[in-house]
Amino acid sequence: MSADVLVVGYGPVGQVLSIMLARQGWSVTVVERWENPYPMPRATVFDGETARTLACLGLDSAFAGIGEPVDAYDWRNAAGRTLLRMDFAPVGASGWPDATAFHQPALEAALAARATELQERGLLRVLRGHAAEAVTESADGGVTLAAVTADGERVTLDGSWLVGCDGANSVVRGWLGGDVTDLGFSHDWLLCDVVLDRPRVFEPANAQLCDPVRPTTVVGSGPGRRRWEFMRLPGETVEELDRPETAWQLLGRSGVTPQDATLARHTVYTFQAAVADTWRRGRLLLAGDAAHSMPPFAGAGMCSGIRDALNLSWKLDRVLRGDSDERLLDTYEAERRSHVLRTIELSVQLGRIVCVTDEEEAARRDAALLAGRTPGRPLAQPLREGLLHRTVGTVAALPTGALVPQGRVARDRETGLFDQVVGTGFVFLTTEDPAGVLTAEQTAFLTAIGAHVVRVVAEDSDSAGQASGEVVDLDKVYLPFLAAARARFALVRPDFHVFGVGRNTRELTMLLAELKAGLAARVPEPEVDHPSRH
Ligand SMILES: Cc1cc2nc3c(=O)[nH]c(=O)nc-3n(C[C@H](O)[C@H](O)[C@H](O)COP(=O)(O)OP(=O)(O)OC[C@H]3O[C@@H](n4cnc5c(N)ncnc54)[C@H](O)[C@@H]3O)c2cc1C
Repeated sequence: MSADVLVVGYGPVGQVLSIMLARQGWSVTVVERWENPYPMPRATVFDGETARTLACLGLDSAFAGIGEPVDAYDWRNAAGRTLLRMDFAPVGASGWPDATAFHQPALEAALAARATELQERGLLRVLRGHAAEAVTESADGGVTLAAVTADGERVTLDGSWLVGCDGANSVVRGWLGGDVTDLGFSHDWLLCDVVLDRPRVFEPANAQLCDPVRPTTVVGSGPGRRRWEFMRLPGETVEELDRPETAWQLLGRSGVTPQDATLARHTVYTFQAAVADTWRRGRLLLAGDAAHSMPPFAGAGMCSGIRDALNLSWKLDRVLRGDSDERLLDTYEAERRSHVLRTIELSVQLGRIVCVTDEEEAARRDAALLAGRTPGRPLAQPLREGLLHRTVGTVAALPTGALVPQGRVARDRETGLFDQVVGTGFVFLTTEDPAGVLTAEQTAFLTAIGAHVVRVVAEDSDSAGQASGEVVDLDKVYLPFLAAARARFALVRPDFHVFGVGRNTRELTMLLAELKAGLAARVPEPEVDHPSRH
C-alpha cells in the first residue's frame, strides 16, 4: 500500500502534520519508534497562533482539560525586582489566549484522539513501535522507507513524499545530507515536573528568577501541574544535579515538599540553539525539532514546529493535487528558516538574561534591563520573505507577511470566530461587494485556489448581514485592520499570514498575478490589468 505522504515521528509536530494532510484527503502513514506515547512533558506553553492552528483541527473543545491561559511572564532579579514583564491577553490577536500553559502528554492525547477518526476512515495509518532505518528514492519520484519493529521485523513502506518529524536527533536529517549549524548557546538545566496535591497560588505564577546563585524557571504546566527548572552551576556535575534529593532541596526553596506534591520526574536537559542547513532534498523534508532546536525561554520550539506543519501542509496539498509544481516547496524552507532563526535569536537573547551565574555580570544585566534595554516579544512574528507580495523585488511593508488578526464574526445565522464561521484556506477580504470588484477571471482564480471570498461589514451599518454571505465584524477586528493598512482588499494565506493588501483594482490585479506566479499554479490566468475599475 503506497501512501501519499510518509511521516517519521509522531511527536506533536508529526501528529499535527499528519492530521492536517489526512483531513485534506491524502493517505498518510506515520512510523513512530516508541510503542506508547512519551508520558512526560517537554513544552509547557503554546502561543495564540498555535492555539488558532489547533482549534482549526477541532481541538478547541479539549483546551480546558489540557491547559490554562497565562496572564504574565515575569523576569525578576535576586532582590525580587521585575526586570522584564510580558503581559498576555486572555483573548489575543489570534482570537485565543496569547499564552496557554499546558500539559504536553494531554495535548498529544487529544491530537491522537482527533486522529482516530481519520484512522477509521483509512486516511491515516500510525505504525507505533516502528523505527525508521533507511530510505531510497526511486527514479519515478517515489520514496521507499525501511523500518524495523521492536521484535526485529523489517517493513518497507512506499510514499510520494517523506517528512522527518523525528526530533532533535533526526535520522531523516542525516538522509538529507546537510549539516546542523550550532548557533552557540548551550546550558544544562534540571527539569522538575511537579503535581500538586491541592491547588496553590504561586506569586509570580510564571517567572524567570534571574538570581546568579541559581537561575530558576517557575511556570504552570497545565491544571494541577507546575514545572521548575534549575540551571547547572559552574563546577556542579550533571550527576549531582540529576538526583531526587537535589530536586527536593531546590523545590523546598519555593515551599514545595514531598508532603504536598509529587515529583513526576526530574531530568537534566541540555538546551541548544541549532538549525539544519537543508530542510528539503528532493522528496524528503524536515519539520519541527528535526529542523531546528532552541532554548525554551521564549516557549516557542513546539510552536515553531507546528508553524512548519501548517506551512508545509497547504503547500504539499497543492503539489499533490497537481495545482502547483514542486518549486512551491522551496518557499517552505525560505519562509520557515528565516522565521525560526529570528525566534531562536529571541530565545537566546532571553536565555542570556537568565543564564548568568556571575554576580557582577548579573548586576550589569539588571542595570541594563531596568534602564529599558529589553528584547522583543516572541509573539506574532511576521514572515519577511517567501511567497509574499513584493514591490520591486523586496517584500512590501507590513501588513504583508503579518498574521491576520482573528475576531468573532456573524454570517447568515452563525456567530463565532472567523475560522470556525468562514473556514480555513486562502481568504480574500474586502470591504466591498466582491461582484463589483472582481472580474470573472479573478473570481475563477480565487475559486480554483479554494479561497473564501468575504465581504466584511460593520455591525452598525444599515445593511449589516443582510446580503447572503456577508460577514459582520462583531469584534471590530477586520475593518480596522483594513483601514490601518489603508486597503480595500487583503489576500490571506492558509497559514494566516497576509500575502498582500491592495488599495485599488490595479493593485488587486498585481496581487492576484503575483500569487498565481508564486503558486506556480495550473489555474486560470488573472487579468493583467482592468483599466475600467481604477
Ligand atoms: C525543557 C523543555 C521545555 C520546552 N518548553 C517549550 C515550550 O514551553 N513551548 C514550546 O513551544 N516548546 C517548548 N519546548 C520545545 C518542544 O518540546 C519541542 O520543540 C517539541 O516537543 C518538538 O516536537 P517534535 O514533534 O518536532 O519532536 P519530538 O517531540 O522530539 O518528537 C519526535 C518523535 O520522533 C520519534 N522518532 C525519532 N526517531 C525516530 C525514528 N528513527 N523512527 C521513528 N520515530 C522516530 C520520537 O520517538 C518522537 O516521538 C521545550 C523543550 C524542552 C526540552
